[in-house]
Amino acid sequence: MLKIINGKEIAQKIYSELREEVKILEKEGRAPGLAVVLVGSDPASQTYVRSKERIAGELGFFSKVFREKEDISQQELQDLIKRLNQDREIDGILVQLPLPEHIDEKTIIEAIDPYKDVDGFHPLNTGRLFSGQRDSFRFEACTPLGIMELLEREGIEIEGKKAVVVGRSNIVGKPLAHLLLERNATVTICHSRTRDLAKETREADILIAAVGKAALITGDMVKDGVVAIDVGINRVDGKLTGDLDFDSVKEKAACITPVPGGVGPMTIAMLMKNTIKARKYHGV
Ligand code: NAD
Repeated sequence: MLKIINGKEIAQKIYSELREEVKILEKEGRAPGLAVVLVGSDPASQTYVRSKERIAGELGFFSKVFREKEDISQQELQDLIKRLNQDREIDGILVQLPLPEHIDEKTIIEAIDPYKDVDGFHPLNTGRLFSGQRDSFRFEACTPLGIMELLEREGIEIEGKKAVVVGRSNIVGKPLAHLLLERNATVTICHSRTRDLAKETREADILIAAVGKAALITGDMVKDGVVAIDVGINRVDGKLTGDLDFDSVKEKAACITPVPGGVGPMTIAMLMKNTIKARKYHGV
């Protein structure tokens, strides 16, 4: 029977668990501190930052949003990050991407203290993930982490399964492939130069689409009983849709995530979870 995975509901459950953790940390002497840096006035980034600010507040975090002008210089932005790295009330630093073109994103990410890198993009964190260091302290990127949490909470077996990840970005596809590999899935990564995408996706027990092309994956490209996870966010005729052609894929899937209301809510939940992890690392 088809199960439509409700990411919103799962995220709410996670928030109620996190609220309890925050209470304990507060009693210990300090709530988790999150700093969000927003540069410029991109409407989508503003919306994301507002949600992060609201949820951090609801959970009882100490949170600060730095709204910086579009023409901030590379040096000014680096100086702000340096101050946040040294700020003992701040456990997690998130720089909302994308940054304006005149800013070198890579240098900014590398300027963040890796132990405050709650987005999991710093090379120390990706390096520890990509080299399979499960025993080291590391932050994992929020969207891939959210997908793993969804799979786990839905009781979906991963070990030995064929997982096909469509998309190889540094923020979704690549880290997700490594997390799946760590859980002993057999992982295939597809991308824009994959010769026969349908041939690959038809093999998937677990299929994750993270491309950004509406309805790229159709029902004839999946096998019966697939677990289909849709990361894509596309706007079609004013409506949000995913990379899966929901109606045709759901005819064959055992489980499917909708867009909106699937992976999206999990991403912010994992940011909050990572900030609590950072607070525990830093202590009071
Ligand atoms: P990206 O543009 O960095 O990467 C897209 C990937 O898709 C690339 O690796 C590319 O090789 C691959 N690709 C492009 N065309 C393809 C094709 N025809 N067949 C197979 N692969 C193809 O994008 P991203 O940042 O990884 O994001 C992907 C999508 O996920 C976007 O829609 C984005 O908005 C969404 N997203 C959602 C969340 C969330 O929280 N729900 C978080 C991050 C990204």
